[in-house]
Amino acid sequence: MSWEDKIRKVEPYVAGEQPREKNIIKLNTNECPYPPAPGVQAAVEQLAEDSSFLRLYPDMDATPLVEALAAQYGVDPDRIFVGVGSDDVLALCFLTFFTAATREAPLLFPDITYSFYDVWADLYRIPYRAVPLREDFSIDPADYLPAQGAENSGIIFPNPNAPTGLELAPAEVERIIAGNPDSIVIVDEAYVDFGGQTALPLLEKYDNLLVVQTFSKSRAMAGARVGFAIGSKKLIGYLKDVKFSFNSYTMNLPAIRIGTAAALDTAWFEETTGKIAATRERFKAQIRALGFEFPDSRSNFVFARHPAFGGAELQKALRARGIIVRHFEKPRIADYLRITIGTDEQMDAVVKALQEILAEKA
Ligand code: PMP
Repeated sequence: MSWEDKIRKVEPYVAGEQPREKNIIKLNTNECPYPPAPGVQAAVEQLAEDSSFLRLYPDMDATPLVEALAAQYGVDPDRIFVGVGSDDVLALCFLTFFTAATREAPLLFPDITYSFYDVWADLYRIPYRAVPLREDFSIDPADYLPAQGAENSGIIFPNPNAPTGLELAPAEVERIIAGNPDSIVIVDEAYVDFGGQTALPLLEKYDNLLVVQTFSKSRAMAGARVGFAIGSKKLIGYLKDVKFSFNSYTMNLPAIRIGTAAALDTAWFEETTGKIAATRERFKAQIRALGFEFPDSRSNFVFARHPAFGGAELQKALRARGIIVRHFEKPRIADYLRITIGTDEQMDAVVKALQEILAEKA
């Protein structure tokens, strides 16, 4: 065997483009269009005054951040795990909770979902089964129940799902968790803060549930890389054991400080997420009037198609007008565009561009 044959080969996750040009309306990676909470800016300024955080190792428990989250969500600090974005948290979850999966009892997740899940599964050699969504893109809880033939060693799905934006009702989420007492169920709530309903209350009843959230979208901090998981003390303990066996010091002090400031500002959080949800509803009405079709998103993006266009074609036409949106060249969704909700002004510009594109085609 050559050295090259001995390498673990994986096909990496492909993230949305981060363009270099200015004056672009960037609606392709679900970032927040508004600056973060005022306390975040103050924390950044304070960091500039004392560089000792560069010389010293950071607090590997990220204590102030964990305590701020504990206060915010009303749980004990030992039920919270923080990581460098929820991607970091999720990657560690796959390693900790899902590597016992087998071909007979694989990891389950939807066929149309966050495209990092199959990458992590491949990376860790976790057998998985992608469960088809219904025709309308909704998740059918029955498809995840061992009692109905869905043997598994773990389940993960985003709620709201990405890139569809569709929410699974809390009672349906509970059906999946209750029907899987021998599996760990992870609900990835990256997009829950824009009017969705969190599974956090279910933690009181189920110790096999882990809820993962992020500061990237609803707290306007995609660049700071802060994500977290809340679960039973036991689950969090196992996750920490793996994390501290891998790399203890992943979250640096600036991220801890500004994350803490962001976590504490409830008023900013509610105002901003409310504003984005209102813009989303306004945008839905605008594009519905143009003939677009879309699942009823509860997230900070809309997943839409137009009968007269292919997804790639429409993406290109928008790009030519300085608007970047996400398109997935995949079965069932190749006609759709995932459009992040920006400010009202940005969305008006999108609507105007779409009107022009439609008029040209007519
Ligand atoms: N989960 C889902 C469903 C996502 O869409 C994303 C964003 N790419 C993430 C998790 C990860 O976000 P982050 O690492 O920025 O917290």
